Amino acid sequence: MSEPEIITLGCRLNAYESEVMRGHAREAGLDDAVIINTCAVTSEAVRQAAQTIRRLRRDKPHARIIVTGCAAQTEAQRFADMPEVDHVVGNAEKMHAETFAGLSVASSARVQVNDIMAVREQALHMIDGFGSRTRAYVQIQNGCDHRCTFCIIPFGRGPSRSVPAGDVVTQVRRLVENGYAEIVLTGVDITSYGRDLPGVATLGKLVRQVLKHVPELSRLRLSSIDQVEADDDLMIALGEEERLMPHMHLSMQAGDDMTLKRMKRRHSRRDAVAFCERARTLRPDIVFGADLIAGFPTETDEMFENSLQIVDECGLTYLHVFPFSPRQGTPAARMPQVRGTVIKKRAAALRAKGEAVLASYLSQQQGRVVDVLIESDGKGRTPQFAEVEMRGEGADAAGRIVRTRILEAGSARLLGEVCA
Ligand code: SF4
Repeated sequence: MSEPEIITLGCRLNAYESEVMRGHAREAGLDDAVIINTCAVTSEAVRQAAQTIRRLRRDKPHARIIVTGCAAQTEAQRFADMPEVDHVVGNAEKMHAETFAGLSVASSARVQVNDIMAVREQALHMIDGFGSRTRAYVQIQNGCDHRCTFCIIPFGRGPSRSVPAGDVVTQVRRLVENGYAEIVLTGVDITSYGRDLPGVATLGKLVRQVLKHVPELSRLRLSSIDQVEADDDLMIALGEEERLMPHMHLSMQAGDDMTLKRMKRRHSRRDAVAFCERARTLRPDIVFGADLIAGFPTETDEMFENSLQIVDECGLTYLHVFPFSPRQGTPAARMPQVRGTVIKKRAAALRAKGEAVLASYLSQQQGRVVDVLIESDGKGRTPQFAEVEMRGEGADAAGRIVRTRILEAGSARLLGEVCA
């Protein structure tokens, strides 16, 4: 019997929501459906979604094509105008079983996209698993109340709203009972967790509740955080909770104060450096990743140099580099743009920097004995998220955490052997 097919583009939050939709579509008997869960973070992401749909229609002329996700939410008419598309579903509607039950009825509306800014609640839709993955993402928050000048996400996901802590604990426990050794708490702006909930709820308190109430959980990891909003409980947990992974991915975006100001970010260069120093004091084995934009409008060579230098000043290890691309409808798209060739050159310089700092970090791991969570195809991850190619007895035991001796360090991953 065929199954509904899901194509997930974009972020971990989309990956989680795709698992929820898989259950809803299956229950609704939409076996002929292909659901495309789109991303709108850049114009290129939206273009790729449209391209994927056209290719899909060619390959599957009889499939029922359902388009959802942030691109469908922010540009519903664009997808409704595509003859290849059967249904356009909004980001809030996609989480409801009734939406999919309704789609199997011939008279169902072709476009079901409502005002995402009106959404206030964030119920948790329980999932049992994450396909063949060994790490499961759990949505704790959605939406965003900030308005960074380059970002369209708040218009795709609505205001910030949090999942009650009790539901998160129940979800984590269910996934651990189903064999998951590592859980990643995810959302759009997880450091704003709890502000919409009664009482004093913070990301740090949630982390401690999850670790306290699910003692069988081996590893808890956080998806991207806004370091300037990290609460004290989170920092205490970082220092005290061994099961909270010593790896933080920071939504840093730039290393220059004027650029940060024009991005409407809430931190300064000095805040970022101070945060990393404080976290490293609390957890000396911590490793940082960061998102950095190259070529933001009005960025001069000097301002870009500050972004390059902050990599060393914060001791960053993993860089996600984004060449700036204007997003129609954002204030940054109306600012004086940097030339495309300059953006490309700066992005290349940042990526080269990223490769150098990663290789340097990996080379320091040689000879060490670490715990590796084995994933599929004989690879795994350390607590600091370094990728390890595994050898030896048990190197293919996906889902298990094994003591591993690091034999060699490559430019992007390590080579490790399971300790007898
Ligand atoms: S914090 Fe800024 S970059 Fe992140 S989702 Fe919100 S508006 Fe976008």
